[in-house]
Amino acid sequence: MAKDPFTRRNFIKTTAATTIGVSLASPTMAFHQDKHVKPVRVAVIGTGNRGTSLLRNLLAIDGVEIPALCDLNTDRLAFARKMCVEAGKKEPEVYSKDEYSYKELMDWENLDAVIIATGGASYPSTGSTGDGYRLAESVGHSVIPTRPSLVPLETPGSTAQSLQGLSLRNVSVSLLIDAKKKDAKFGEMLFTHFGLSGPIILSLSRQIVDALNKIKRVIISIDLKPALDDKKLKLRLLRDIEQHGKQRYSSLLRELLPRKLIPVCVKLTNIDGDKLANQISSNERIRLCRWLKDFRFDISGHRSYSEAIITAGGVCTKEVDPRTMESRLVNGLYFAGEVLDIDADTGGFNLQAAFSTGWLAGQSAAG
Ligand SMILES: Cc1cc2nc3c(=O)[nH]c(=O)nc-3n(C[C@H](O)[C@H](O)[C@H](O)COP(=O)(O)OP(=O)(O)OC[C@H]3O[C@@H](n4cnc5c(N)ncnc54)[C@H](O)[C@@H]3O)c2cc1C
Repeated sequence: MAKDPFTRRNFIKTTAATTIGVSLASPTMAFHQDKHVKPVRVAVIGTGNRGTSLLRNLLAIDGVEIPALCDLNTDRLAFARKMCVEAGKKEPEVYSKDEYSYKELMDWENLDAVIIATGGASYPSTGSTGDGYRLAESVGHSVIPTRPSLVPLETPGSTAQSLQGLSLRNVSVSLLIDAKKKDAKFGEMLFTHFGLSGPIILSLSRQIVDALNKIKRVIISIDLKPALDDKKLKLRLLRDIEQHGKQRYSSLLRELLPRKLIPVCVKLTNIDGDKLANQISSNERIRLCRWLKDFRFDISGHRSYSEAIITAGGVCTKEVDPRTMESRLVNGLYFAGEVLDIDADTGGFNLQAAFSTGWLAGQSAAG
């Protein structure tokens, strides 16, 4: 176990001395008055996804009592209290941040474990405002700079905006950073009133946020016809033109594109929409093919933490023992969930990380 410059009591005093002391947010506090003789008393502070997982874990351990619960979110708090009662425990005291008393924390004796499980800084309306980072730093932990991730992107101009609400399925999106292709994703994306969103855009956003922070040029290129290579697409166009030669260009596009995209395509390919299909020149055909495979957007920014599904960065994982989630710097201090420098793609991986680390931290703290 690492050398602990803080005694348990001093740790609480340290945190209480900071203005964010209340940010002992989702910590679980284990009061082992005497592990072998008396029941283990645990106060759960913060009851988010991982907090609830911690709680479930602790409730399953014989001899654990839960005298107190704390969370900023009163619905979660009520749910957590109900869990305790349904598990046959004595009804715990509940505290929201405003009511939270540091003095009370400082006065608690025999505190054996603190679990910081306060989530990240994203969607602060859910209660996660980054308190855990400040708390971790206050006891000597390093915090890898945080930034929004799984976050929608902003585009300049009005093209994306004019397509607001349009969702594209089965498209391939390439990410170009300073003109070099860095990644590609296949799937679904969405146009919004500010730019681009949807699963594949969100999945690319971490790299994009980092590139934008380094003032690099970021381009998203959409391949609207990923199932057709250039040759097949050209043949497909020729066939459409042959079959519908008397149709206007803009009507011909109905065979190829969702309606909302047609005016954008007409404008960006710079082909007269009223032109008959059989009058489209070979150069124009080439232009259309290129555009269908490479519909580009400059990325000018990203949305803020308030719209970011997760937070990248956080408490440095090198300073946490992955076998127990205990701090390598402070004995009895545990971390779980998004407060750590862990972030993953969409698909439930972030929730799984929160549940798994929460389970492990709860088990280790109470065990
Ligand atoms: C809209 C949205 C959709 C998402 N969809 C997915 C998805 O599909 N798949 C996926 O894997 N992940 C998803 N996530 C991310 C996932 O929800 C988080 O990664 C996960 O909830 C992190 O769990 P956590 O317990 O670490 O933090 P949280 O669930 O944020 O819990 C932190 C808790 O700490 C409390 N707290 C914070 N500060 C204090 C304080 N000072 N005092 C008291 N309490 C405090 C908060 O109130 C909160 O209850 C989504 C997130 C959002 C916002």
